[in-house]
Amino acid sequence: MRECSICKELKTIDNFHRRGNGHRTECKSCKSIIDSKRKRDRDPFFSVYYIPEHHYVGMTNSIKYRMQEHKTKGKIVDGYEVIGIYERAVDAHLAETILHSIGYYGFYYKGNKKKKMAYLDNKEHKKIIDCVLEQNAKLFQNLGEDCPKADYEKAKLEERRKLRRIMDLDPEKIGRLVKDSLDD
Ligand SMILES: [Zn+2]
Repeated sequence: MRECSICKELKTIDNFHRRGNGHRTECKSCKSIIDSKRKRDRDPFFSVYYIPEHHYVGMTNSIKYRMQEHKTKGKIVDGYEVIGIYERAVDAHLAETILHSIGYYGFYYKGNKKKKMAYLDNKEHKKIIDCVLEQNAKLFQNLGEDCPKADYEKAKLEERRKLRRIMDLDPEKIGRLVKDSLDD
């Protein structure tokens, strides 16, 4: 017999799904409730997110649920940001993989805390920089011609925020863009 970590009922082991060499801590019926709740909470898109405290990048199609999950497992998720939204999982995964390849931690990099950011000029960096510049261009396209000054300032702020986040990829180029953004 085994106690379910959720409903706290004592059940025979065949009431628990296998996991690895053992079994899950929650019983099958609790697990199916969790799964269906998770399905309901699913976002209609895939998010790639960044958790500053852990320098961690991940992807999910249920951002609220995933942050809850990270918190439960002891991560500090304050100030997390969604840095990309994708219709297709495969695109989100590509973006996530690129970020991992340049030194952001992710699920597959657990324990590899010594991995440093790469500062080299390379194709992957260019891809990310281009993507951010495109996002920034959209910030201003969405504003329209005679938007209130406050909205414009907000967009500028967001522009710089996005740039600073990728500063490490090419400090010189990005630094220049930030300066440009401050100047006008
Ligand atoms: Zn249960």
